[in-house]
Amino acid sequence: MKYKFLVSILFLVSLLVPAQLLAQKNKKFKKPINVILLIGDGMGTSQMSSAFYYGNGTNSFEEFPFTGFSNTSSATHKITDSAAGGTALASGTRTYNGAIGLNTDSLPLQNIVEFVSQYGLSTGVVATSSITHATPASFYAHTKWRNMEEDIAKDLVKSEIDFFAGGGIKFFNQRKDGLKYLDSLKMHGFEVDTTSLPLQFKSDPAKKYGFLLASKELSKTASLRNNFLANATQMAIDHLSKNKNGFFLMVEGSQIDWGGHANDAEYLINEVLDFDKALKVALDFAKKNKNTLVIVTADHETGGFTLAAGKESYEDEDTYNNISPTFATGGHSATLVPVLAFGKGASKFVGFQKNTDIFDKMKETFVKGE
Ligand code: MG
Ligand code: ZN
Repeated sequence: MKYKFLVSILFLVSLLVPAQLLAQKNKKFKKPINVILLIGDGMGTSQMSSAFYYGNGTNSFEEFPFTGFSNTSSATHKITDSAAGGTALASGTRTYNGAIGLNTDSLPLQNIVEFVSQYGLSTGVVATSSITHATPASFYAHTKWRNMEEDIAKDLVKSEIDFFAGGGIKFFNQRKDGLKYLDSLKMHGFEVDTTSLPLQFKSDPAKKYGFLLASKELSKTASLRNNFLANATQMAIDHLSKNKNGFFLMVEGSQIDWGGHANDAEYLINEVLDFDKALKVALDFAKKNKNTLVIVTADHETGGFTLAAGKESYEDEDTYNNISPTFATGGHSATLVPVLAFGKGASKFVGFQKNTDIFDKMKETFVKGE
């Protein structure tokens, strides 16, 4: 009787102590490592190349010393969607198109956020889509279909994420079940802001932060987002780097993909240039903090985009000096995507790899400390 009472007391106490704190006592990596994974959704080699020909003439892509390619297929299709593509990167397993954090038997996969959280690291996700959209969701949620964004919001509340920034307020406060998930976030220790990123961010390492700055996605005009992606990346790094055990951060240039789907070259290129600014923030941190690995890749290519010459003509001298971007599809393609790496453990990413290898290599860097 007494024993039973004691067990139930212990059980109650365990509910009060965050799982992360319990785990932290048991597991430690050899060294603190920070990994910043930047995903350009739909960013194939041509999309990346546009940063070399448009904008102000400089870009951060070319600062990455180690480069390779990733084959982005899913378990079911040669051409993946962003859910299976994100899950492959986040969990190291190929699954069916549409799945978030589940395998082909619909069983939950452990993602990199869950893995490193056991070791007491901090984690974050930043996106210009809703934070419950397929790519960021793959890093904290487990749902059968990507469009279950209200369920994904629930998973975010329960997750180990310490910092997030993106859109998607409606999936928290205008839910079919009528529940108020902004309040749930606060109950789970989040400081929630639905207006804007602060000009000055003095984060409290004991707190978690959630920025939901649009009903669904953020503005489709990058210039109207007030440098959101780079600023949110900087804020995430400021907050997460206060954890001496290290951190994992995923940053997504979400709308490169939408420029591709819309076959809108100007939209696409502006999104690549916006994503490039976030790369610079990550690189600047990694240059000063040598225990940091920065990886840039894509979940797949979108649009069959090319930086083509306007027409096939050798007679007109100017033809080959004028790029007239073209698209081959309104959907995704199977083309290999770039993998760029800088910093601790970066040389592992050279050469050809599967999307799932990127997860394995990130994990290995955390475990081995190099
Ligand atoms: Mg995406
Ligand atoms: Zn897409």
